Amino acid sequence: MKRIASLSAAAAVAALPAFAQNVKVTPLGGIDGELCALDRAMVFEDPNGTRVLYDPGMTVAGPDDPRLGKIDVILISHMHGDHVGTAHNKAPNSGTCDKPDTSVSSVPNTNAVDIAVKTRAKIVTGSEMPALFAAKLRANGGDPANSILARFGGSVTIGGVRIATVTAMHSNGVDGDIIGGELGKTMKQAGIAGDVGLATGYVLRFSNGLVAYLSGDTGVTADQERVVRDLYHAKLVVMNIGDTFTTGPTEAAYVINDLVKPESVIPSHANEAGTVNGKARPGSRTEAFMKAVKVSAYLPLSGRTLEFDANGKCAAGC
Ligand SMILES: [Zn+2]
Repeated sequence: MKRIASLSAAAAVAALPAFAQNVKVTPLGGIDGELCALDRAMVFEDPNGTRVLYDPGMTVAGPDDPRLGKIDVILISHMHGDHVGTAHNKAPNSGTCDKPDTSVSSVPNTNAVDIAVKTRAKIVTGSEMPALFAAKLRANGGDPANSILARFGGSVTIGGVRIATVTAMHSNGVDGDIIGGELGKTMKQAGIAGDVGLATGYVLRFSNGLVAYLSGDTGVTADQERVVRDLYHAKLVVMNIGDTFTTGPTEAAYVINDLVKPESVIPSHANEAGTVNGKARPGSRTEAFMKAVKVSAYLPLSGRTLEFDANGKCAAGC
């Protein structure tokens, strides 16, 4: 009797830390419980409590969005308006899933910078984006030292989360509306965008050992095999699937099935109403991707938290 009791107590002790060691992923999309056209934003919460906001875009309803909570780090894959946030919705659940509300302008500041000023989060970007974000923080009462560089091949560790940037085959022009003033207006009229170097993806290593690859907007690259898989061993991937601007469902599935080969994948950047009542919409790119991938795939439904263990296995909310 005593022996059984001590065994089950040992099992409970063994189970507890494992349960507590999950990384929580919560999409902050346009409509609760759905994957909608402009959804990019996700919060990754390390088991140690560090909270990382990825590509706030237009569906985080500005710095006062009640879903944000504490934010320690903001990642911005590149400067396009749907990622850095040149506008945003009035409140969560405004607009419709295929026609999101983007009625509140965020230029020239950007939604990302407004959120960083309010939360005092650090902005970690690659290429030559840190100087732009430092200038924006300075201009808006934030601390320019909170804009931090992680250029390809390097990394920074903040709050126990190691952050590296990786190749994204994409463009990265800064819209004249973000530059602002006469210069911004002249550039916009001429159809010329500002240059802050290459777009990026991210590889995050959380304190429980989970490695996650956030693709950003990208085409298919050999680095997805040689760097993201062979060097970093990513077990969880957030993969952009929207086509035209980034990999479509077939190319994105190839990246997952043949190049990165993670344990789990979360599609993102669908550029369509990807779900209806929380299920992949028949005939959608989202459905095509979910059918084409051979690893476990989980829809990022806004406000629904998924938990992943160190090996990238979905442990809760799946
Ligand atoms: Zn995009």
